[in-house]
Amino acid sequence: MASLVTCPHCGARPKEEFTVKGAVLDRPTPDAPQETWFDYVYLRANPRGAYEEYWHHTSGCRRWLVVTRDTATHEIFDSRDAANRTKVTA
Ligand SMILES: [Zn+2]
Repeated sequence: MASLVTCPHCGARPKEEFTVKGAVLDRPTPDAPQETWFDYVYLRANPRGAYEEYWHHTSGCRRWLVVTRDTATHEIFDSRDAANRTKVTA
């Protein structure tokens, strides 16, 4: 994994300042079937390649970020504030 992660607010920072919190998934609507909610809560794809994850800049600005990372090489392609999230990968 890259030793420096670029935070859109703080610039390049050591990866130890961040906490990875999990995959960026589209939340089902409140009235979605139980099976849809089960899949959302318990099932995850394990894709190879670019994948979006929520990262928290815990020891920095404490903002939530969406980081696009290669699951095979750990190369980071993009990081942006989660408030400005637009889905890039499936
Ligand atoms: Zn930051």
